[in-house]
Amino acid sequence: MSTAPPPRYLTKSRFKLALECPTKLFYTGKAEFHNRAQEDAFLHALAEGGFQVGALARLMYPGGVEVIDDSHAGQLATTRELLQRPEVTVYEAALEAQGLFVRVDILRKRGDEIELIEVKAKSYHPKEGPDFRCARGQLSSDMLPYLQDIAFQRYVAALAFPAFRYRCFLMLADKSAKSSVDGINQRFRIKRAGPRTSVEVAPGTDSAQLGAPLLRAVPVDEHVDEIVGGELVVLDRSVSFGEGVALWAAAYRADDRISPRPSSMCASCEFKTPTFPEPGQPRSGFHECWAESFGWQATDFAGGTVLDLWNYRNKPKLLAASVLKLSDVTPTHLSLADCAPGPAGMSRAQRQWFQCSGQWPGGGEQFVNTAGLRAVMCAWRYPLHFIDFETSAVAIPFRRGQHPYETIAFQFSHHVMHADGRVEHKSQFLEARPGVDPTLPFLRALRAALSDDEGTVFRWAAHEKTVLQQPPRVRILVAPIGPEL
Ligand code: SF4
Repeated sequence: MSTAPPPRYLTKSRFKLALECPTKLFYTGKAEFHNRAQEDAFLHALAEGGFQVGALARLMYPGGVEVIDDSHAGQLATTRELLQRPEVTVYEAALEAQGLFVRVDILRKRGDEIELIEVKAKSYHPKEGPDFRCARGQLSSDMLPYLQDIAFQRYVAALAFPAFRYRCFLMLADKSAKSSVDGINQRFRIKRAGPRTSVEVAPGTDSAQLGAPLLRAVPVDEHVDEIVGGELVVLDRSVSFGEGVALWAAAYRADDRISPRPSSMCASCEFKTPTFPEPGQPRSGFHECWAESFGWQATDFAGGTVLDLWNYRNKPKLLAASVLKLSDVTPTHLSLADCAPGPAGMSRAQRQWFQCSGQWPGGGEQFVNTAGLRAVMCAWRYPLHFIDFETSAVAIPFRRGQHPYETIAFQFSHHVMHADGRVEHKSQFLEARPGVDPTLPFLRALRAALSDDEGTVFRWAAHEKTVLQQPPRVRILVAPIGPEL
């Protein structure tokens, strides 16, 4: 017996894709297309602590019913049935209208009012205010995707069940909160079985045992009104939110490709392969978009596009002027008067120009500013120390007194290079035992490792310096920290 294919709904995630670029709707979910986001999605959610935050949020709204049906139809039927109750809390409620479909993290119905609560493993400090706006009064780009997400949910909910009044909240990790009990994180263990990830909550865990709340439900009705009452851009045309959503839903349902409008955003497109795909390799949405838009063949991509241009902010301008290939870029585009590096080395524009022209000073495929490098190295003091930290910053704290997303340093490695060129793995530190706070032992071990001489200390990245300077517990001067590697 053949089973019917699942309905082609415009879901939350597809709505968010369309906001980035509507052409992505055509590529998403198709196995033949490369999709980097698919590879990253699980690790991203894991790193952000999304699974655990979701489980913690449910404990703040206890007694809810989870919708666990496999099919869309089953999920919708169960939700409809639950909403017959005068008061109910539903986890993962399913709502559908006009080809749009959403799952709501937490839905609370009280009489004729419904609260939609979207849980995000995103940090929030009440000092920032519930405003979520930048200085010019617009919704901040940092928060906009989250606000658009909940706005889409309310839009679908209001279409599906228009008789209710809706209130919308973002449930965020409150950085001002401190855990008042030990071991909360350890109560939420992530389990992965095949493609399914779940969180196993330690038996007996309830909100009373979790102490001071670590999450905060921030009301966002005003922002949602603004987004739903605003406009979307579809094919260079501004249309109402409802019209835009309907156009995207129709295109996705019919599997129509919305014509690409290449932009600088294409540089980070998840459907972009590093090079033009060979026969048999996954297809590249990026290469197909650009081939269609500009009439390009495989050879046109070979020398690189302006999207590859290093550290250059004006890519939209170049694209608007039909400067598409690196080989199309001239010194004038880079505002470069003199292409030859001076005694101080190579400027950013010169570096960009050599990338475009491929003609590095002195020939060859690279340029090393030997004189400049020597001058810098003369300031180093041997032995040279190289330190590299491993840290964690989790949404749900490990122990009492810790804030959500507070950085905990638990491992370092320490290598030394002597004046005669010898390199040794001088020392290391690791404290990863459950329930043990590594902070002070970490700092003591690091201070001991770096206190024997006056050698220059190099760090792997800016992160090491940030960790050592974070207030207030870890602000203990270990040693003057030198350059980033
Ligand atoms: S390559 Fe550009 S135009 Fe094509 S889907 Fe990606 S972002 Fe959209």
